[in-house]
Amino acid sequence: MRNRWSEQESANLSDVDLLVYMSRLAGSDPSLVLWGGGNTSIKRNELDFRGRPTRVLRVKGSGSDLKSVRMQDFSGVRLDDALLLEARDEMSDEEMVAYLAQTLMEPGSPRPSIETLLHAFIPAAAVLHSHADAVVALTNTADGAAVLQRALGDSVIPIPYRRPGFLLSKEVAEAARARPGVRGVVLMNHGLVTWAETAREAYALHIEIVGRAEEYAAGQKRGRRVFGGVKTENVPVQERHRAAAALAPLLRGMLSQRQRVILRYDDDADILDFVNSEEADRLSQIGPATPDHLLNTKRLPVFVRPVEPTNTEAVAVALREALRRYEEEYLAYVDRQNHDGVVALPPEPRIVLVAGLGMWSCGRDVRAARIAGEIYHHTIAVMAGAQAVGSYTSLSEEDAFQAEYWPMELYKLTLQPGERPLARRIALVSGAARGIGYAIAERFVSEGANVVLADIDGDGAAHSAAMLNERHGEGRCLALTLDVTDEREVAHAFETAGLAYGGLDILVSNAGIALNGSLADMPLGTWERSLAVNATGHFLLTRESLRLMRGQDLGGSLIYIASKNVTAPGADFGAYSAAKAAEAQLARIAAIEGGPLKVRANILNPDAIFEGSGLFSQALRESRARAHGIAPEDLEEFYRRRNLLQARVFAEDVAAAALFLAGDESAKTTGAMLPVDGGVREAFPR
Ligand code: ZN
Repeated sequence: MRNRWSEQESANLSDVDLLVYMSRLAGSDPSLVLWGGGNTSIKRNELDFRGRPTRVLRVKGSGSDLKSVRMQDFSGVRLDDALLLEARDEMSDEEMVAYLAQTLMEPGSPRPSIETLLHAFIPAAAVLHSHADAVVALTNTADGAAVLQRALGDSVIPIPYRRPGFLLSKEVAEAARARPGVRGVVLMNHGLVTWAETAREAYALHIEIVGRAEEYAAGQKRGRRVFGGVKTENVPVQERHRAAAALAPLLRGMLSQRQRVILRYDDDADILDFVNSEEADRLSQIGPATPDHLLNTKRLPVFVRPVEPTNTEAVAVALREALRRYEEEYLAYVDRQNHDGVVALPPEPRIVLVAGLGMWSCGRDVRAARIAGEIYHHTIAVMAGAQAVGSYTSLSEEDAFQAEYWPMELYKLTLQPGERPLARRIALVSGAARGIGYAIAERFVSEGANVVLADIDGDGAAHSAAMLNERHGEGRCLALTLDVTDEREVAHAFETAGLAYGGLDILVSNAGIALNGSLADMPLGTWERSLAVNATGHFLLTRESLRLMRGQDLGGSLIYIASKNVTAPGADFGAYSAAKAAEAQLARIAAIEGGPLKVRANILNPDAIFEGSGLFSQALRESRARAHGIAPEDLEEFYRRRNLLQARVFAEDVAAAALFLAGDESAKTTGAMLPVDGGVREAFPR
C-alpha cells in the first residue's frame, strides 16, 4: 500500500477541495474502497443561510462513489445539532435518519451516510473510513482481536462487530476518548477508521496502517498455499472458454426462472486459483467478508466441483442440483433468522463458482453483475489474507441476516428506478454498424437491453458500440466483426454473447447486401453472393439462436429485416428479391419450429430508407432510378410519393417496430410480416 498523496497536486487546495482530493485518492484503490463503500468527512466553519457562523460536518452522502465524488455529493450537517445526540442512550436508524435530515445546511442535499454520527462524534477535523481488504482479513480470523494486536499493536482500537448506526458511533467515540493518543479504530468484520486534524494526515495514517496489515499477512504467508494444494487441474484457456460459453445459457436459464438475470463470466487468475484449490469447497461456504460484500454477493456463493469441467451436460446437471439445494438452504436460513415476518428476498445466488471453469456473477443488469463479480475478487483476497494469518471466519448467521434484511437496505431497494421494457434482455443485431441495424441497437439499448453489435465492418461496429456505451453505461454493448456467411464466425458471435452476458433473448437478423442487375445479364457470382448473405446468413444466425434458446429455455424473439421486395419485387433486383423471399420463408419456418420453445419469429419489411443506410450505394441509387425511369436525385421523392401516407421512412421507424416485436407487447405474435414503408398497396402482405 503506497501513500499516493501528491504535495504538488494538493498544494493551494482549500479544506473542502482537500476532502474531495483525499476521497478520490482512497476511492481509486479498489483494495481500500469498493463501489459506494467507505466514507470521508471534515469539520469546518461555514455561514448558514442567515449568514451566521456555524460548525458544519461535510460528510459523503449516500449514493455516491468515493472515486468519482464531487463537492456537491457531501452533505452539510450542522455539527452542534448532531453532537446533542451523544447524550442519548439509543436511537433507531429511522429516528436518526429523520433527525439528520433536519440538520442539513442545504435541504436538498443527498441523504447523509448511515455512518454520519460516527464521523460527527470523532473529536478530529478529518475522518477517513474504508473497508480495506488487508485490515478486514486480520479481523475475519478465528481470534481476530489477538491477530490484530500482533499485526498492528496498540496503534488502533478494535471495536467488536456491530451494524453501523447510532450505537456503533457512540462506541467509537467512547473508545477514542478513552485513549486520546490513538487515531484509528478497526471495526471488526467491517473496516478501518482513521482521523487527524488534516485530510493529508488522516489519509497518511490510513495508508500506513493498511500497509502494516499487508506486510504482516505477507510475512505470515511466506510462500505457503493459503487455499491448500490444487484439487482441480487447470483447463486450457480455449477449452475453458468453449465450455463456459456452452454452459452460460443453461445456467442463465436456471437462474432466470423467476426473473431474467445477466451473467458475467470471469476466469481471472485469482478466481481460478481459488476455485481449483483444495479448500475452496469449505472456504466458499463460510460467509461474506463484510456486510457490504454480502449486499452485492449474497451471503454465500454456489460452489460445484465437477469431475470433468468441460462436460457441459454433466456440469449442468450438477449445477441444477446445487441451485435447488442453494435455494432450499437460503429459504431455511431466512426462516431460522426471520423473527419480524419480513418477506424473503429472491433466493437465487449472485455468485456461481465452478472448479475448472471460474466464476459467474449475476445481477439485474450488467453493472450489478460486474459489481458482484468485482466484490467477490475482494472476498477471495480477504480469505487469502485471513488464511495467511489464521483461519478465515465470517459474520455469524444472525449478523449476516441482520445486514441483509436491514430495513435501511430494503428501503434502498424500493428506490431503484423502474425497469425499461427490454431490461434484463440480451440482443444480437447483425449489420449493426450503421443504418437500420444501428438504429435498432440504439433503441434497444435505450430501452434497457444489452446488445451485441455485429457487423462485417468490425471497426464501424466498435465505433457504434463505444458511442452507445458512452451514453448508456460501460459494458452495455459490445462489438464484433461478423461475416454472417461464415459458419465459424457466427458460432463465435454466440459464444461471445454467452460469455459477456450469459445468453440471448433477441436476434435481429438484419445484415444484407443489395446487388442489382437484370437476370439476363447477371453473372452467377452475383446471384450466389446475394443468396449467401441475404438467405444463408439468416439461416446460420437462426440455427445458432434456436440452439442457444433451446438450452436456455426462456423463449426468445427472432426478428428478420426483410424488404418490401418480398411481396412486391421489382425489375433488375432479382438476386436481392429472391434471396429476401427465402429469408421470409425461413422466418416462417423458424416461427413453426420455434413455437414449442416459445421462440417467436417475425418479419419486418422496410422500404426506401436512405439516411445512414449502407445498402443504398451510389451505383444502386442510379440503377433503381433507371429502373423507375427517373433521375437519381429524384429517387427519395419518388419513393415518398409512391406510398399511401406520402411519408419518408427512416431507420428509427423500423427500430420502433423492432422494439414492439422484441418485447412482451407482442408476446402473442409470431410468423407475422409487418411493413414499415409508408403503405405500398402492391406490397400489402397477404
Ligand atoms: Zn463502512
